[in-house]
Amino acid sequence: MNTIYLDNNATTRVAPEVFEAMTPYFTELYGNPSSMHSFGGQVGHAIDKARQSIASLLGAQPSEILFTSCGSESDNTALAAAVQTRPEKKHIITTRMEHPAILAPCQHLERRQGYRVTYLGVDSKGRLDMDEYREALTPDTALVSIMFANNEVGNIYPIQQMAAMAKEKDVLFHTDAVQAVGKIGINLAELPVDFLSLSGHKLHGPKGIGVLYIRKGVRFAPYLRGGHQERGRRAGTENVPYIVGMGKAAELAAANIVQEQVQVAALRDQLEKEILAHVPLCMVNGDTENRLPNTSNIAFKNVEGEAILLMLDRLGICASSGSACTSGSLEPSHVLRAMGVPFTFAHGSVRLSLSRYTTQEEVEFTARELPAVIENLRALSPFK
Ligand SMILES: *Cc1c(COP(=O)(O)O)cnc(C)c1O
Repeated sequence: MNTIYLDNNATTRVAPEVFEAMTPYFTELYGNPSSMHSFGGQVGHAIDKARQSIASLLGAQPSEILFTSCGSESDNTALAAAVQTRPEKKHIITTRMEHPAILAPCQHLERRQGYRVTYLGVDSKGRLDMDEYREALTPDTALVSIMFANNEVGNIYPIQQMAAMAKEKDVLFHTDAVQAVGKIGINLAELPVDFLSLSGHKLHGPKGIGVLYIRKGVRFAPYLRGGHQERGRRAGTENVPYIVGMGKAAELAAANIVQEQVQVAALRDQLEKEILAHVPLCMVNGDTENRLPNTSNIAFKNVEGEAILLMLDRLGICASSGSACTSGSLEPSHVLRAMGVPFTFAHGSVRLSLSRYTTQEEVEFTARELPAVIENLRALSPFK
């Protein structure tokens, strides 16, 4: 049985070109870039090249690119830097839609360090209210952190406008762009954000490598201290093969993004349309007007999301549900709860996320099999 991988917002396949670019840095070019000998030194050029590739994908300068170990580290680092460089300010603005890598450190600041955190709410489609945001910005606000695109429903947020509003009030602005980079165009030359996070494994790079963009001139405080690597901004011997892989992933994204967006969106739309046409009592979660091209989150009334995933798994289809199994109970995810998706729908929410490797045949197979899965589960369901 072939695997049909429709869970690309959880992680992606490492592109073959990326793997190939990384390999020599395990086997032959394993020197330490900090060494005095040329064997180590030559590795430094590979890091420079990767930094350049990432900068050019984002419209940034290479000196603004800091390598980290993952998207979560980038998010935590940005928050910590803002808090440390603006110690007199004790307020943070974020949203209820963020990834736990932002929500958990915000909750920590709130509970342990006396910060006030505003979690902006959303409407039923997951959209933010700009008036609520404007009112939340105060002279005491150290940082605003808003995701560029949401991992569960795919909503894209108006980062250009929101960052500009923060700048008017001299407030630092961070965006978690882990789901956006490589899927939609981002040009930091025109986007007034101070910090931006990305992660290798969400754009066909390896797991365990991330980037934090830090705008030139913005004050920074390191999260990891110890070595002089990354110009003193992050200690630790550079993860050279993964940095090279991340650079290659950025190059591939830059070369293919326009064509890929169209191709992936067409497949996603086809899949969604077929499902909506053949399954009664279902709806799309999120803002269909302003969404990542690869993401579809569909709520099926009166079915358990986990049951759907198990049935799909038997067919070789990998997807995700909109519930998080926290402390043994199946709760709808914080994102679906923030949107107020009714319980009978939220419990049966499934996320299908495509990639450049998704094929027409895979979409057709999924669209053909899914209606029967839902029908069978509903026949067994006690709620009718
Ligand atoms: C995956 C993800 C992260 C975390 O990235 P890791 O590299 O897995 O730590 C952060 N934010 C968003 C929106 C994500 O989708």
